[in-house]
Amino acid sequence: MSKNQFYAIIVAGGSGKRMKSDTPKQFLLLKGKPILMLSIEKFYQSKYQPTIIVVLAAQELETWKNLIKEYRFTIPHQIVTGGIERFHSVKNALSLVTDEHAVIAIHDAVRPLVSLKTIDNCFEKAFADGNAIAAISSKDSIRIQEENKNKAISRNQVYLIQTPQTFQYQQLKLAYKQDFEHFFTDDASVVEKAGFAIHLSGGDEYNFKITFPEDITLATALLDQAIHE
Ligand code: C5P
Repeated sequence: MSKNQFYAIIVAGGSGKRMKSDTPKQFLLLKGKPILMLSIEKFYQSKYQPTIIVVLAAQELETWKNLIKEYRFTIPHQIVTGGIERFHSVKNALSLVTDEHAVIAIHDAVRPLVSLKTIDNCFEKAFADGNAIAAISSKDSIRIQEENKNKAISRNQVYLIQTPQTFQYQQLKLAYKQDFEHFFTDDASVVEKAGFAIHLSGGDEYNFKITFPEDITLATALLDQAIHE
């Protein structure tokens, strides 16, 4: 294991229409700092010291440059422009990675409350097993819709999938050669379609995706109590 074989791709290429805000959600402030900066800081603190690649929509590059100056943000990172879907954004970022021994974590910028433990466990397990996907169990009962009726299924059979989703280079490179499919809502679904078994790793209850305005209020309260660490 060498320190420089670890990478973190932080995807922030979306427009965030559900937030009802002109500012893309990755730039909204949480405890006075843009959410994207908080997510980058978390990976920067990882003991695996990943090379950080940030994916941004082309029209946001200028905004990010200005934020870096305004907040005196000094964490080194490479920038790549995003694509039409998350899939294309990840694919663009992968083009910057050429090390065949790389272990690559892919993380939604809008999950700034991810814990260091989750990040480091994913790196460790992906290094050993090929991939590791942050996941939690469901506290709620689960039903699935089947045509005109719905049916209870055991919640023990269900996992809620988060990021980071961490993979060895070869799996990702092969998987992202596939054509886009609409069910590719995360990286695990892309890698699974390419024929690899997916391994889950413990995620965090507070590692939610900031999606709606009220999520900012919740995330602020959690950061105030520092119970997300
Ligand atoms: O839209 P959704 O909440 O699923 O986005 C998850 C993450 O993927 C966000 O951080 C978003 O910025 C990123 N994304 C992207 N490129 C896209 C769409 C989403 O990098 N085309």
